[in-house]
Amino acid sequence: MKKIVIAIDGHSSSGKSTMAKDLAREIGYIYIDTGAMYRAVTLYALQHHYIQGDIINEEALRADMDKINISFQYNAETGRPDTYLNGINVEKEIRSMEVSDKVSPIAALGFVRRAMVAKQQEIGKAKGIVMDGRDIGTVVFPDAELKLFVTASPEVRARRRWEELQAKGEQVSYEEVLDNVKKRDYIDSTRSESPLRQAPDAIVLDNSNMTIAEQKEWLMQQVQSKIKNEELRMKNPTA
Ligand code: C5P
Repeated sequence: MKKIVIAIDGHSSSGKSTMAKDLAREIGYIYIDTGAMYRAVTLYALQHHYIQGDIINEEALRADMDKINISFQYNAETGRPDTYLNGINVEKEIRSMEVSDKVSPIAALGFVRRAMVAKQQEIGKAKGIVMDGRDIGTVVFPDAELKLFVTASPEVRARRRWEELQAKGEQVSYEEVLDNVKKRDYIDSTRSESPLRQAPDAIVLDNSNMTIAEQKEWLMQQVQSKIKNEELRMKNPTA
């Protein structure tokens, strides 16, 4: 079967990562969570005290960029890849509110984006990839065969994220999470370096009122029809 690149972009906590992970597992593709990469850089900056309140020591972070090694390793227990920062599993730390709170300003830095995008493009050369983020269909893989843009209302997204954090035992109010979701939407869509926007050829999925099962079914239909079209196109390139 022809292997393609599937780019999944969208708003924070829209459920796109879960969707992308499950899809990759189902169709035997490699899954790359680009948000986890920006989160790992943020964790590194926090660990090295390069972030003090709203001030980022950009020079120090820039000088350290080639010391930040991010990789993914499959976790057989969860059936999903875990994120490693310089060889250490940081999957839990990168999902904390502290990292969520600082990640968007870090992800808005040009030198951070350039380093991450280069790495993402390198990984994606192999095809057979599901990559999720904010700029995958617009900047990282503008030629991706299938592009999706996932969204839901800020309230629905905040509720899902709050429930996730509650389940992990993190003490945080719904209002705080809603505020973080809105703040990240704002920074992500107004930054000058590759802002979050829908690629003109992306298919939009608003999952505010959809169950996970409905979403899965919809997604599989999109993927199967795209792969079929690509195979037909290869057989008959002039059609
Ligand atoms: O997807 P997730 O919410 O984990 O991403 C965390 C943050 O990383 C986003 O709020 C955004 O600021 C940034 N990000 C980005 N570009 C990507 C993926 C994530 O700027 N491709």
